[in-house]
Amino acid sequence: MNGGLALLFLLLPVAAFSGWVLGRRRSERTSGERVSELSTNYFRGLNYLLNEQQDKAIEVFLKLAEINRDTVETHLALGNLFRRRGEVDRAIRVHQHLISRPHLSEDEKTVALLELGEDYMRAGLLDRAETLFTDLVAMDARAPSALRHLIGIYQHERDWSKAIENAQRLERATGESQSPMIAQFHCELADLARAQGAYDEARAQVAAAFAIEPDCVRASMIEGHVEASTGHLDAAITAFERVAELDVDYVPEILSPLLDCYARTQSMQRAEEFLSGIIERYQGVSPVLALAKLYAATRGEEAAAQFLDRILRQRPSVRALMALIDVNLSSVSGEARENFLTLRDLTRQLLEGKAMYRCNRCGFGAKAHHWQCPSCKNWGTVRPIHGVVGE
Ligand SMILES: [Zn+2]
Repeated sequence: MNGGLALLFLLLPVAAFSGWVLGRRRSERTSGERVSELSTNYFRGLNYLLNEQQDKAIEVFLKLAEINRDTVETHLALGNLFRRRGEVDRAIRVHQHLISRPHLSEDEKTVALLELGEDYMRAGLLDRAETLFTDLVAMDARAPSALRHLIGIYQHERDWSKAIENAQRLERATGESQSPMIAQFHCELADLARAQGAYDEARAQVAAAFAIEPDCVRASMIEGHVEASTGHLDAAITAFERVAELDVDYVPEILSPLLDCYARTQSMQRAEEFLSGIIERYQGVSPVLALAKLYAATRGEEAAAQFLDRILRQRPSVRALMALIDVNLSSVSGEARENFLTLRDLTRQLLEGKAMYRCNRCGFGAKAHHWQCPSCKNWGTVRPIHGVVGE
């Protein structure tokens, strides 16, 4: 639903009110002009909204709010309009004014408070928004909405413990499982602990993630890193291989540490088997490049070049082409070498600035992998882009 439409729905109660006004007008012609002005104004405002003429819509709704001070919906629509236009100060004033009015029902007040909280978030006043939403949760008023906003704030502040706490509350309030998201929060804590060398704490957080999300890809990945860092290479290999089993799209993320573990345990045979198996069921280019590198080391550059040449014909890829140029560079000289260098430069330019990942929820493109989409804030939706210039 686009913004204009969303607003229209918000204004539906006003439309009902106007309908009532029109009906009343027929029976009581005495209230006459004022009522007529109200509904005319309302429909004019609606018309402006439909035509995306927000300035004029605001003007009309402001007037409407003045004429009829009891119309809560008009204030809400107006505040929402201001916020969407980035005029957060005005939105805050409208909502504060609404909240300060007597005779507001509990529910109306709660809705206005929620709106005000969103204004604060938009204005970057996260402390105020946090206090407001926490109060609403404590009052048990519209708890799910307030909890969702609170979780958003704690994610933004990277306060993962509070994010977990509130996500669990949201589960209890709605009965809907938040396990995938909570597992991600535990993984965030595990990553922080790992970065500080607190491996036991990292293991505990990984275990907490597995407890609620047994097939958590990210927890497997962190487990691999923790075990690799602490010298448990076989356990690390098992964990990394499990990542590929759970979700083959994450292979590019674990390839380098996994290959390192294979090398350190001198399991090159197992490495070759793993890579060959992955290439069968994964369309990306990363394992192809890794296997070519392995062939170059174990069977010579000729074998690597032949392998790359064969794969390139099956699945064209600029990155594989670059690798093919690289393995051939060492065997050519003079003008041919110059040409190869030019070609390599051109292919590099083709890849430069290209997004390698895309969010399958909002379409956000990124050069690096993100667990949480920087744009729509969903977890686990950023995936590698496959294709000629992609992964
Ligand atoms: Zn997204």
